[in-house]
Amino acid sequence: MNLNVSPLTLNLRTTFRVSHGASDRRENALVTLQHEGLTGYGEAAAVFYYGDTYESLSAALQSLPPLGDDPFALEEILNRLPPMSHAAQAAVDMALHDLWGKRLGQPLYRLLGLTPAPLPQTSFTIGIDTPEAMSARARETQYPIIKTKLDSQNPETQVAAIRAASSAVLRVDANAAWTPAQALDLIPRLAPYDLELIEQPLPAGDPEAYRWLKHELARRDVRVPIYIDESLQTSRDVARHAGAVDGVVVKLMKTGGLREALRAIHTARAHEMQVMLSCMIESSLGVTAAAHLAPLCDQLDLDGPLLIANDPFDGLRYDGANLSLPDRPGIGAALRL
Ligand code: MG
Repeated sequence: MNLNVSPLTLNLRTTFRVSHGASDRRENALVTLQHEGLTGYGEAAAVFYYGDTYESLSAALQSLPPLGDDPFALEEILNRLPPMSHAAQAAVDMALHDLWGKRLGQPLYRLLGLTPAPLPQTSFTIGIDTPEAMSARARETQYPIIKTKLDSQNPETQVAAIRAASSAVLRVDANAAWTPAQALDLIPRLAPYDLELIEQPLPAGDPEAYRWLKHELARRDVRVPIYIDESLQTSRDVARHAGAVDGVVVKLMKTGGLREALRAIHTARAHEMQVMLSCMIESSLGVTAAAHLAPLCDQLDLDGPLLIANDPFDGLRYDGANLSLPDRPGIGAALRL
């Protein structure tokens, strides 16, 4: 199998601001794996707060030892990869899964034993802005599920502004911006705005802080489900948070691809946790690959392609918040020419 790497330049429709920073353009890496006349595609998202750039991803992928000639030997090939960024791993994993499906002439969801309908609806994300601008975004969006980013400056005003403008299901994401004391103060004040869940209120790397928060919220009879995102990369992190949170956010760029994402989903199920499937800023290639796992998940946050003005791939279809998977073989994402 022959591996090639090239840039995927994604222009965002609007500047996207979360508590980690802001951006209006991304340069992801496209991996192509050629094998006996077929091409497997994979994408690595350059997430700046993980330290990945197109240059670093491309250097890691181009220095890989040969992957061999059997695209069905997924476990063996992936276990042999040298340590590298999970986004780079994800691109290789995705390209192998794409070849697997193309070789067998079947869409990936079928090879995984899944049926693609009906899927949960996806949320639409509102980035951090002034409460007035966030409220205007909420009012104009037609999506039935809104996910809003929050910071530590004025989260209550932001949530109140959105709630006043929209009766959509509302999820909030603090992206690790709050201290435990802030979270314990804020969450009971945010709960009356009828939130479906709160994502990553606390910094990553401290399951005990989450265990403490859950206990303290229960003591105050505050019942908003708490999910982790940045705290979780692989299935091991799911197990470490058993009993400490209500749900986990799974993304291929964190797990290093579909293989480990499946393990993370099953680990969460074993611990009676909910699962939200999400994405980074990725084209329809990466997001369609993830969406093949959507039948196993409770919530979807797969609006990546909706944020991009020049999506180089055609894949997952959006009818408002309703998603349908392509039935082409493999991932089913086709390069737009
Ligand atoms: Mg998040």
